[in-house]
Amino acid sequence: MLFKVKCDKMRGEPVELACPFCDKGKIQCWYIPGAISIKKTSTSTLGRMERVRKTSDIWLIKSGCPICGKTQKEVEKKLKEDGII
Ligand SMILES: [Zn+2]
Repeated sequence: MLFKVKCDKMRGEPVELACPFCDKGKIQCWYIPGAISIKKTSTSTLGRMERVRKTSDIWLIKSGCPICGKTQKEVEKKLKEDGII
């Protein structure tokens, strides 16, 4: 039997945000938390070094608002302006 291994590309989780315009509609989103990667390097002059990098969180807005009819783009822009995503 062969099993297909799911790769790590589908990280993240579905999240519902309240519509920033009418506060009644539910906006379907996909939230992917930023990944932390540690890069270890060793050089002859400086010894061992560790560099920690964190990528920023990613929000994918998947829908507009079904209540007030704002589009996905308008909702995404407003959420960013308000600092929610
Ligand atoms: Zn709305």
